[in-house]
Amino acid sequence: MSCGCQCHLYIGTFILISLLISSYHIYVVGFCFSIEMSVTKWLLNLISFNILFVMMIWSLLYTMFEPIAMPPAEYKLTEDELKLYVESADDEKNYVLLEVYNSRYFTLKTRTLHGFLRYCRICKLLKPDRAHHCSTCGVCVLKMDHHCPWLNNCIGYTTQKSFLLCLFYCTSYCVFFMGTTYRTFSYYWQSKTRRNIHVPAVIGFFIAAVLGSITGIFLCFHVMLMFKNKTTIENSSNPSIFVSRNHTFDLGSYRNLTDVMGKNWIAWFFPGFSGEGDGCYFETRKLCIRRGSHTSLASRLSRASLRSHISHVPGTETMHGRPTLRLYRFNLPPIDKAIQRQEENVISSDEEIDTLFRTFSE
Ligand SMILES: [Zn+2]
Ligand SMILES: [Zn+2]
Repeated sequence: MSCGCQCHLYIGTFILISLLISSYHIYVVGFCFSIEMSVTKWLLNLISFNILFVMMIWSLLYTMFEPIAMPPAEYKLTEDELKLYVESADDEKNYVLLEVYNSRYFTLKTRTLHGFLRYCRICKLLKPDRAHHCSTCGVCVLKMDHHCPWLNNCIGYTTQKSFLLCLFYCTSYCVFFMGTTYRTFSYYWQSKTRRNIHVPAVIGFFIAAVLGSITGIFLCFHVMLMFKNKTTIENSSNPSIFVSRNHTFDLGSYRNLTDVMGKNWIAWFFPGFSGEGDGCYFETRKLCIRRGSHTSLASRLSRASLRSHISHVPGTETMHGRPTLRLYRFNLPPIDKAIQRQEENVISSDEEIDTLFRTFSE
């Protein structure tokens, strides 16, 4: 029976903290103060171990308690807009969202796989690029990566760096533990009598091996994603497409690194946000992809279908009765089956899109 509170969300955190505190106690009390070693080695071990432990706990607590970055108020629909949206028929809802979007100053570079603006029905807002709704937190999170059950917080725009540091320090802590207790552990396996064995150090070695392996794998995976400028969601599925064809958030390894960790390399080692941007707007780069690649919204539209849809989009003709480039770019209607049937006649270059646009403007 549920107690009605959120206790179950802290089970993972409780297990993790218990493991780390146990391993600390085993190392400091059960290993450093029990096994004979030179004073220099003893001091070096203790100082290095405590530095790693403090940095790990600092990163961990920061990631756990840092407030989630949510979309700003301008992305939310006003009461009147929401009323209009709710009362509209299903096939008109996307046009209502388009009108809302056109009344705002921000730019959205991505759409759903069907070409719609990305809208969260729970938070009642237009989702900024790379933002997703977290069902556990119950809100939309900027640049959402995943919800971490071990830290009971969302890993996103403000917590990505501290999460990476968490993994880094936890892996380093476990490797250090294993490296310094290795002799005791190997003696345990080689000894036939198993006498004079320091059992806590052996147990600690096992805990560090399991924990270090898991965090090490996650660390490699998330560092790889950081250098590609991808989130776990973007890597595992393809929930949205770019409006501009063949675009990517990947700006090159160094830019991707500084976007998350910041430009000051000293700050890379300390938890705390030092990344770039505002979490809503992300720079993109055009990819050099072979002709005819079907990766963007524009590449899936034919000339004829584009023309027919442009003329049917309400509010398209604004500037002296002509459709504008902004409206052409962003007011594209959903791709229906008729368009998909004409897919062999795709637009295959930006020049072609510009020519097409000029045709509409004349
Ligand atoms: Zn939401
Ligand atoms: Zn969450």
